[in-house]
Amino acid sequence: MTESATHLPEGWSLVVGLEVHAELATNTKLFCGCPNEFGAEPNTNVCPTCLGLPGSLPVLNRTAIEYAMKLGRALDCHVNSSVFARKNYFYPDMPKDYQISQYDQPTNTDGRLALPDGYVVGIERAHIEEDTGKSSHIGGDGRISGAAYSLVDYNRAGVPLVEIVSRPEIHTVEHAKAYVSEVRAILEATGVSDAKMEEGSMRADANVSVRPEGSDELRTRCEIKNVNSVRSIGRAIEYEALRHVDLYESGGAPRQETRHWDESAGRTRSGRSKEDADDYRYFAEPDLLPLVPAGAQIAAIDEAMPLLPAARRVQLIDVSGTDVETAALVVERQQDTLAIEAIERGGDGPTLVKHIANNLADGVGQLDAEAFAALSNMEVGGELSSTQAKTVLAALVSSGGEPGDVAAAMGFEAMDSSELETIVDALIAANPDEWQRYCDGDTKIQGFFVGQIMKATRGQADGKVVNQILTARSQS
Ligand code: ZN
Ligand code: MN
Repeated sequence: MTESATHLPEGWSLVVGLEVHAELATNTKLFCGCPNEFGAEPNTNVCPTCLGLPGSLPVLNRTAIEYAMKLGRALDCHVNSSVFARKNYFYPDMPKDYQISQYDQPTNTDGRLALPDGYVVGIERAHIEEDTGKSSHIGGDGRISGAAYSLVDYNRAGVPLVEIVSRPEIHTVEHAKAYVSEVRAILEATGVSDAKMEEGSMRADANVSVRPEGSDELRTRCEIKNVNSVRSIGRAIEYEALRHVDLYESGGAPRQETRHWDESAGRTRSGRSKEDADDYRYFAEPDLLPLVPAGAQIAAIDEAMPLLPAARRVQLIDVSGTDVETAALVVERQQDTLAIEAIERGGDGPTLVKHIANNLADGVGQLDAEAFAALSNMEVGGELSSTQAKTVLAALVSSGGEPGDVAAAMGFEAMDSSELETIVDALIAANPDEWQRYCDGDTKIQGFFVGQIMKATRGQADGKVVNQILTARSQS
């Protein structure tokens, strides 16, 4: 793949680094025993520690650390001895006036993430930090400017986060979207986060810049904050990159700043001018000891690592013969286990994967692997046409059951091929001119015959068998 984004004007390339914040799915917060849950009544999951009251001290959550290290290993990182640090700044949703994070000695460093098409993105670090509370600006359009007043909910303050920082090695919008999807899939597969972008338990910021094609300089970047879907990430990056190109081409230059994505307007807007690390006056957190993971602990994490999405795609391709893109879709939907179980029960791989990709986007409902396998075999064996199989599948998803019974109840009788041949012969006899064109190699007329046969059989004929009969007749 070339470096230039397909959407950028000739001569420019895109440079993107992504920062993904993922809330860890622990029962309690990072430094106190308050529940870590989404959607509770505001300011009910709080205590002196996560409210930053004087005299309160942090106590580290062991599970959060284990989850962070597990994620680090899943991203192929080194898991290091690490030190917590205070990142100092004022914002009303952060009651201590500093965030406990990690700075120069983060837990995970130097990882890599392979995208479904094989492109590899370097991971600079994946460090542990606490989340902030949540501000709501009431009145106006929800932004702070123009609001009548603001409310703060501290339920989220102190929830454990991992911030995954990629290297600026992403050069197309497609790879940026694939990267975010892959991170989400890894978070889900490892169980360390529920990774719900719409609930904010996974949030992505994009650092975007452009440069002349062929150059390796890093120009001024803008950071686009908290875009809340994979699709929006793509739109926001594309908008921002084009804005930079326009600025350079008209003799100007972007300035380093934080920008916000406005989904309805389809544009980014200027936020605050971006701080450098120096502005935060980082220093080592005096109330927490360094984290020193034992080698045995990391070995145990590796031992217990579930199969990750990349390996699951390979496995699905192996057993079903499907292509990379379809495998990526099926694994992303977490439906690869169903496909593999159905194949193990004797189902037909290509037919099963075809149905998953095309007909199970809304979930599998009551469908089980046994019934799914049986359905695929009825279809391959010609007992059901593909249209009928799709209808039976929908019924299995909504109310379960055995595909043979469901098909019989729907009146989908197996159409034996001698019956079908009679219908084909009658159709040929009634349309001699069309048939001659078919025999002379006019492939377009094939659809006419198939359509007429489907009509005559009210969709019960198997398209594959119809084509076989037509071919056989034309060669006899
Ligand atoms: Zn608390
Ligand atoms: Mn952060």
